Amino acid sequence: MSKGKSTADELQQHLQQLSNAFAVRLQVELPALAQNAERLLHAADPQEQLQHLQSLRDQLHKLAGAAGTFGFSSLGQRARELEQEADQWLETLQQEQQSLQDFSHSLQQLALQQFQAERGQEAATRVVKPPRPNSSARRIYILEDQLAIGENMRLTLNNFGYHAEHFSHIADLDHALQQQLPDALIVDVNLPDESLTGLEYAASLQQRLDEPLPLLVITTQDDFATYLEAVRVGAMGFFTKPVDIPQLENRLERCFAQQQGEPYRVLIIDDDRELASRFSLILRGANMLVEMLHEPADIFARMRSFNPEVVLLDVSMPDCTGPELAQIIRMNDDWLRVPIVYLSAETDINRQMNALIKAGDDFVTKPISDNALVAAVFSRAQRARLLSNALSRDSLTGLLKHADIKEQAAVELERAQRSGKPASVAMLDIDFFKKVNDSYGHAAGDNVIRALANLLRQRLRRIDSLGRYGGEEFLVVLPDCPPDQALRILDEIRQRFADLHFIADGQQFSVTLSAGIASTDDAPASADDLLDKADRALYTAKHGGRNQVR
Ligand code: GH3
Ligand code: MG
Ligand code: MG
Repeated sequence: MSKGKSTADELQQHLQQLSNAFAVRLQVELPALAQNAERLLHAADPQEQLQHLQSLRDQLHKLAGAAGTFGFSSLGQRARELEQEADQWLETLQQEQQSLQDFSHSLQQLALQQFQAERGQEAATRVVKPPRPNSSARRIYILEDQLAIGENMRLTLNNFGYHAEHFSHIADLDHALQQQLPDALIVDVNLPDESLTGLEYAASLQQRLDEPLPLLVITTQDDFATYLEAVRVGAMGFFTKPVDIPQLENRLERCFAQQQGEPYRVLIIDDDRELASRFSLILRGANMLVEMLHEPADIFARMRSFNPEVVLLDVSMPDCTGPELAQIIRMNDDWLRVPIVYLSAETDINRQMNALIKAGDDFVTKPISDNALVAAVFSRAQRARLLSNALSRDSLTGLLKHADIKEQAAVELERAQRSGKPASVAMLDIDFFKKVNDSYGHAAGDNVIRALANLLRQRLRRIDSLGRYGGEEFLVVLPDCPPDQALRILDEIRQRFADLHFIADGQQFSVTLSAGIASTDDAPASADDLLDKADRALYTAKHGGRNQVR
């Protein structure tokens, strides 16, 4: 059950190449360091001494950051110590020739040593699964000994557009797992006929896998001990029977949204090309899109063309420092949301603070382990994207907000008029929704709205746009879709929505919807006119008895 092996090998190979390139570079840099140390000793006056010390300090600083990252950890450590010594010299400016000689001697010693990349602590980087093609339905396995419950769950999840399979026995599930791994697993805790509980089984399964499966747990016991056990086997959701399946589906959706998504875009700005290449390889290995920038002057063009979600910025660069560049980025309001992370060999907390006060959000210190780098970038990118989505998307459903979906309708109308390919729009409204709120409470109502949003997301194509138009009203824009086809799609959604069973306060209930369709073929004068026509069709559906599409 191993995946992505060849990609991992390839990554290792690239990393090895970079490490070799760094070793070659050392053959030039270390003698240069020794030469500078020599010059320091023979400086003509204190002024010149100061200059040499400063340049030595900068050299050591770079070396300390890069060497550790390429696996030369003892060199990195030694460089760091000497950098600190240089710092002390710069600060105190004592002119005791004797100890300055010692310092210079230490530097020359360093340059004479043979260094090799030390492997071991973190040889292999875990390669993240490549993103799945979005055409195929997600596969869900359900382990539930009660036939009626398992089958009902399977049918409902299939209605949502998943490929669900139900197993009553562990042996059957095991067999299916040998054939193909699912995208998620749902297990019942109580399996009286088996020797293991569902959680014990899940725990042993997760251990056999390279990567744990997203796991949801269903149970009759909602005591703390069961919750704890579920969390320990990596459960991402916990549901007590009778299970509210739309709510469970909502949780599944969230698990997948976290996994899937577009790869995060990361911009690396570092004048050290090899170091930047190494970071870039590591992040690409974790499925991120990475671009490197070596010329600070190109920052505007690159920010615009690449639109990064995280900027990794070196602190000390020759033409323009990291904090200066960060301030330049922050002058443009468009990029306020992009986190700027300094990637620096700077360990001096005061200098870190000074950089952060000018601009930038965080510090990551070189040398950094591969996993720590991936984690640092991933968490910031994730948060940046969540924030950005929160601003343009409806918080309850994750769909586009009113203004954005209207805009989308206008865009598609224009495109249809240009291309001659008809687009359709559909206005959907939940029937008697007030009654749902009144009978089962507002939270149950919210649950129904979310379920419809998820159903639409599952059933429609990727090119279709979905928006929450109002409270319980949705607008769907279907490019390249004639009205008769739109009618068929929407009617199928209507049917599947009516088939969903919701549960609130132990009571089961169902809800229906009505929809009206309009097409760009009806020669609408404007986008507003098109939406108006759909609205009128919806009105007809409501008056025709609801639970229908017009
Ligand atoms: P009709 O079949 O004619 O559409 O009847 P209806 O009851 O669905 O229509 P109406 O427009 O009168 O009521 C819609 C209700 O939806 C009123 C409002 O309180 C409720 N609602 C709007 N937004 C939300 C929301 O976000 N959550 C919940 N729970 N209820 C909402
Ligand atoms: Mg309604
Ligand atoms: Mg309404």
